[in-house]
Amino acid sequence: ASGYSLLRDPHHNKGLAFTEKERDAHYLRGLLPPTVISQDLQVKKMMRSIRQYQVPLQKYMAMMDLQETNERLFYKLLIENVEELLPVVYTPTVGEACQKYGSIFRRPQGLFISLKEKGKIHEVLRNWPQKNIQVIVVTDGERILGLGDLGCQGMGIPIGKLSLYTALGGVRPSACLPVTIDVGTNNEQLLNDEFYIGLRQRRATGQEYAELMQEFMTAVKQNYGEKVLIQFEDFANHNAFDLLAKYGTTHLVFNDDIQGTASVVLAGLVAALKVVGGTLADHRFLFLGAGEAGTGIAELIALEISKQTNMPLEEARKKIYLVDSKGLIVQSRVDSLQHFKKPWAHDHEPIKKLVDAVNAIKPTVLIGTSGVGRTFTKDVVESMAALNDKPIIFSLSNPTSQSECTAEEAYTWSKGRAIFASGSPFDPVEYEGKVFVPGQANNAYIFPGFGLGLIMSGAIRVHDDMLLVASEALAAQVTQENFDKGLIYPPFKNIRKISAHIAANVAAKAYELGLATRQPQPKDLVKYAESCMYSPAYRSYR
Ligand code: NAP
Ligand code: MN
Repeated sequence: ASGYSLLRDPHHNKGLAFTEKERDAHYLRGLLPPTVISQDLQVKKMMRSIRQYQVPLQKYMAMMDLQETNERLFYKLLIENVEELLPVVYTPTVGEACQKYGSIFRRPQGLFISLKEKGKIHEVLRNWPQKNIQVIVVTDGERILGLGDLGCQGMGIPIGKLSLYTALGGVRPSACLPVTIDVGTNNEQLLNDEFYIGLRQRRATGQEYAELMQEFMTAVKQNYGEKVLIQFEDFANHNAFDLLAKYGTTHLVFNDDIQGTASVVLAGLVAALKVVGGTLADHRFLFLGAGEAGTGIAELIALEISKQTNMPLEEARKKIYLVDSKGLIVQSRVDSLQHFKKPWAHDHEPIKKLVDAVNAIKPTVLIGTSGVGRTFTKDVVESMAALNDKPIIFSLSNPTSQSECTAEEAYTWSKGRAIFASGSPFDPVEYEGKVFVPGQANNAYIFPGFGLGLIMSGAIRVHDDMLLVASEALAAQVTQENFDKGLIYPPFKNIRKISAHIAANVAAKAYELGLATRQPQPKDLVKYAESCMYSPAYRSYR
């Protein structure tokens, strides 16, 4: 290969870090200015240039440019500055990037599979240059973050999630494949936008939708085998639960919105109990929002309670109440409930307002997963504080504008007694001289390590018990020093270490359940996880 094409290959390019010897051996003389610099200095230089941008989307685009020109430098930057760059390559900035994806789209970073590719998906997968794929993140763009239907522009999500798989979980970039399934969009604005990059039709549903998904799932297994992990991302709930149930028995599938969220929130609860006291079974839970996140979390809590106490799952579920847009989920509504809500229909009189539900049910834990901001009003938080010495309040809806309450509101209205976490990041809050640092229940704590655990054990199916051990591993990483600040999640700067522990726990569970195919089982799974992780350091070319 010529030196010129080497510089244009993002997987091999090192820019000014090519050494004198490499410049001679690979026909690079004259194609680079004379200076040779280290990768560390390149990181410093790139960080300076990224910090100069004031607009988050500009930072995002600079990062994407780097990913497309020098992949190792991109990952080194991301790994070494994870707290600063996570909100750039992922939420909240990625949401804005998706909204504008049509105009910032430059080079293919993932596969677009639309209804036009029906009957040809097997060949389409072969067009992707990498053959050895371990993780696919796939979306159909119907429920992107809290932003709704963005159709084909949802592609930013699989790309962003997979860069976290590599940076936080250590999965090789060449083993990651972002996919967007385009069956149309119901977003009128996009349909009328002359620059829209997706299929210009309303969403296909029913059989037509199911057939395309089926062809995709079959082609994936044919091309990459049984051990490829398929992560469903940002599907609307009317498809998400069904896809997970349908393919959970035949493929290695994971839905981050349902299962990943559940695991990260359960970890926060387990950690919070170390401050509040009691076991999970001693608590009562009330949710605002009964969709993918709400019912997913509820189910995992019930499962953990039933494991801890040998209580039947149905009994454990009785400790958990959910409110949707029509009010408390109760028996009298059961006939008109979506199937994933039915297990939560309680023998209770109907209640419309959240504050009334709080006062009737007297929860110790209040969790917001409604996607609607400002719903944990002052009276709601005050009721929680009147009922509990240390009320646990999680406002999980994203982005920040949709959070059920702000960190400041939670701490102020509860007079500094709330144990608070949120979906979107909030700055520390000072209340009566004490500084509270709100925890962020970010899915990025779980899925990269979870995926690594599946890959390194050669797992062929996901089991709910793996979600439970992932939660426990994460909760175990919270230190006394973190608790003292009010944190119930560990800081992100140690995320690779955290991911290695999660991966080890998940892999151990896979072996225990007979779902692991990599034999023999490595002795020290934490060390093994660390040894599997991709390093972004340059390789030397001789
Ligand atoms: P979803 O499946 O669409 O569910 C939303 C639920 O909220 C539905 O049950 C809906 O009721 C209910 N709801 C809507 N408006 C309401 C209102 N005014 N009062 C009460 N309930 C209302 O969405 P999802 O995937 O669960 O996501 C929900 C939110 O959680 C999003 O904002 C997302 O960003 C956030 N989330 C956060 C994390 C995290 O923090 N790590 C992870 C995942 C998701 P109906 O069923 O009656 O329509
Ligand atoms: Mn998601």
